[in-house]
Amino acid sequence: MNVIRTITFNLQLPDGGSSALLDTMRAYSTAFSASAQWGFENHTWNKVENHKATYKAVRESVPDLPSSLVQGARDCACEALKAGKCASPPERKPLAAMRYNQRVITVNLIHGIATIASVRGRIKATFPISEYHRQYLSWTVTTSTISFDKRKKVFYLHISMEHPDVEPVQEVKVLGIDRGIVNVAVCSDNTFFNSKQVKRVRSKYAHLRRELQSKGTRSAKRKLRRMAGRERRFVTDTNHCISKQIVESEYTVFALEDLSKIRVQKRRGVEFNRKLNNWSFYELEQFLRYKAEDLGKQVVLVDARYTSQKCSVCGHAYKGNREGSSFRCRKCGFQLHADLNAARNIAQAGISCLSRLSVNQPNVAHS
Ligand SMILES: [Zn+2]
Repeated sequence: MNVIRTITFNLQLPDGGSSALLDTMRAYSTAFSASAQWGFENHTWNKVENHKATYKAVRESVPDLPSSLVQGARDCACEALKAGKCASPPERKPLAAMRYNQRVITVNLIHGIATIASVRGRIKATFPISEYHRQYLSWTVTTSTISFDKRKKVFYLHISMEHPDVEPVQEVKVLGIDRGIVNVAVCSDNTFFNSKQVKRVRSKYAHLRRELQSKGTRSAKRKLRRMAGRERRFVTDTNHCISKQIVESEYTVFALEDLSKIRVQKRRGVEFNRKLNNWSFYELEQFLRYKAEDLGKQVVLVDARYTSQKCSVCGHAYKGNREGSSFRCRKCGFQLHADLNAARNIAQAGISCLSRLSVNQPNVAHS
């Protein structure tokens, strides 16, 4: 099985590039409509028949549209006819996304350059790439799509890529990871990710935010928005770093709390509510998943109930076991940092989750 992923880039176009791409989109829509109409009238989604019947006329009506794009528009129209079972003529907005095949676009992921065919010849666009995108250099590009955001007046390039699945790692070693506010991540192997820098930067932003909010002027609001962007980028960078360090460890399975399934439950603390509403926890989860997959490792999500109240030694679950950052079991007296105790519970839940999975897979050999 192949791993498939789509990444999106913000395109920067040379002078005249935007209007050339917009005209290309309109011409592409004209080509699409012609194929869609013919297929609808003749009750067929066959691409070859459609090509024979419409190609010449379409080329005449939009002479500047490169022939590969004419074919791309026809393929999209046929797929839409098939999806709608020819019950109605497929429609498309004049500035809807266009699909490009390799003949009409070249994408250079090392330098962030895309050469895009248009009704006015090839356009050389650039897009910002980061260290993170380097991992995709060995992937195969399957399709590229260009879309336009009317409100923001921005063009996007979406690249779908595939990569043969890496051999799954044989030995299983589970690491539990507790995500938190004070400590970004605490792992069951006693690793704490609570870099002083993260704390310093976040408290700096919190302070600035309070100051600006109390001013309430228009310029303060503008500054607040810009600051939110900077803070977000900082958190994203941090999440990249942490997830990279975690997946490159000796562990092969990473267990996290399943935050998506706990909205229904009522009894949970302040920390839990914060976890639920914090997008950066989800971001860390996504990054971990992507990076783990690339190494043939995996992420499992475990039931989030009691992870912070349960004793990781005797299993006694009691709300009063935890007080702030310290955990002390009322039954067996075990003491530990509360986040670390939670991470160990998550690791244990991960192990039992895996054994349930392997029971359902009869082909797995038990030695
Ligand atoms: Zn205990």
